[in-house]
Amino acid sequence: MSVTRYAEILQLGNPLLRQLAAPLTPAQFKEHTALFRSLAQIMHEHQGVGIAAPQIGASVRAFIVASNPNPRYPDAPLMPPTLMLNPQLVWAGDTMVKDWEGCLSIPGMRARVSRHREIDVSYTTLAGETVQARLSDFVARIFQHELDHLDGIVFLDRATPQDYATEAEYRKQIAGPGSA
Ligand code: ZN
Repeated sequence: MSVTRYAEILQLGNPLLRQLAAPLTPAQFKEHTALFRSLAQIMHEHQGVGIAAPQIGASVRAFIVASNPNPRYPDAPLMPPTLMLNPQLVWAGDTMVKDWEGCLSIPGMRARVSRHREIDVSYTTLAGETVQARLSDFVARIFQHELDHLDGIVFLDRATPQDYATEAEYRKQIAGPGSA
């Protein structure tokens, strides 16, 4: 068996980002330990608040949610990095919120995307435990963004072109009037 090294983030246009990712069997959890470690490391290096396995070339149903304030998302709440295997959306509330998103696979672009404000999710941990959780606001947004990656969908697909912005313009807008 060849050793795959995951080091780079696939960019929009790479067909792997448009594939339906495969569910992981419990036996595969341990086999993919190196993948999950790379996922966490690459996300951290690029100041991401989440990253999905297909983004680094592994078409399997796994992602990390790790909300934390950083220059890319100054107002993000703090949440320890959480690896979610075979994640599922169980319930979604009716209230939709439109807010900014970006993606490590689409550098330089931002868009306002409508997402469910509250969702119930389930996922499996690396230890094989099933977790059920209610997520809201920014963390719920990250989950929905990453789940889309597992289904070959990117955030721009969910936004109208009128809500697209460049990274530079986004930073101007979130900085607000009066800031330097
Ligand atoms: Zn993304």
